Amino acid sequence: MAQRKRILITGAAGFLGSHLCDRFIKEDYHVIGMDNLITGDLRNIEHLFNLENFEFYNHDVSKFVHVPGNLQYILHFASPASPIDYLKIPIQTLKVGSLGTHNLLGLARSKGARMLIASTSEVYGDPNVNPQPEEYWGNVNPVGPRGVYDEAKRFQEAITMAYHTFHGLETRIVRIFNTYGPRMRLNDGRVLPAFIGQALRGEPLTMFGDGSQTRSFCYVDDLIEGIYRLLHSDYAQPMNIGNPDEITIREFGEEIIKLTGTNQEMISLPLPTDDPKQRRPDITKARSILGWEPKISRSEGLKITYEYFKSLPEKEILHKDF
Ligand code: NAD
Ligand code: UDP
Repeated sequence: MAQRKRILITGAAGFLGSHLCDRFIKEDYHVIGMDNLITGDLRNIEHLFNLENFEFYNHDVSKFVHVPGNLQYILHFASPASPIDYLKIPIQTLKVGSLGTHNLLGLARSKGARMLIASTSEVYGDPNVNPQPEEYWGNVNPVGPRGVYDEAKRFQEAITMAYHTFHGLETRIVRIFNTYGPRMRLNDGRVLPAFIGQALRGEPLTMFGDGSQTRSFCYVDDLIEGIYRLLHSDYAQPMNIGNPDEITIREFGEEIIKLTGTNQEMISLPLPTDDPKQRRPDITKARSILGWEPKISRSEGLKITYEYFKSLPEKEILHKDF
């Protein structure tokens, strides 16, 4: 029997990491998940624990990373991703993007593995160009509250490219735009779980600012397909993966009210510092190089996600610790 390819996925117990574990198990890889559970939840991957081709290590990747045996691929997804998470744990966020990435690049080099890093549309900061093509250098405030995340990710891209250029390491960089779907944490503060949670609890929806800022939401299955294709392509430059269907946060709130069949009002709270005013991916490269584009419309994706949140235990829906 042919040996299974072995892949290390960091951030495996998180939202995106757990979906990646599922995808690579489905493709018959041997998946090694790693996570320190700082924002993740083992329930996202507990269905994999009995499989012979899944292993899990509870480990902080900002500390030296050791994995026995050979490895063909590393996907580095460990990092707080929601603004309220990285504002709560700013130093860990900087460390996992910098020290963690350095450790994993070293591991990739020693194993001869190809490494893909999860970068973000936040490298564009509060963009002056819309939509954002990969060539745009961004508009980031390094010392603002979001700087801990944005600059960690910019450093992550720089060190990954340096390992590619100077050591000839096979690397891939995906710039992920706002993604949603089952296994997001209801209380992670991101706009979609926040709004759905509020609707389920019968509370007003908390719109920050006047709601004229825009985002472009991608359903998780589309994102995972894009990442899978990028990993197996020969493209080493950064690549945007996201859904270009842009919407204002006010309109998004109205969609959630309609979806949940509630009659909640929206209230306006102060806009957080440096909150980007617009965000929409230019996916010309993903279309031409990977033959990828999103397939799942927002209305379809939102329905699936709403069903997931509704199916959670009532005490989880009622509990909010932020
Ligand atoms: P998440 O918080 O659900 O998952 C992150 C996981 O990483 C968690 O399970 C957490 O416990 C783990 N982790 C954090 N620090 C760690 C460390 N030092 N060592 C080991 N594990 C650690 O977030 P997510 O939405 O799944 O995001 C995953 C990745 O994708 C992140 O790198 C994030 O920056 C990137 N990303 C996500 C989005 C999005 O819309 N979800 C957008 C852009 C980029
Ligand atoms: N937002 C909001 N109400 C909330 C949470 C977020 O209006 O309860 C806004 C936030 O200010 C931002 C947008 O929704 O303009 C998306 O925020 P999120 O935290 O989901 O992601 P990011 O800002 O990282 O894109």
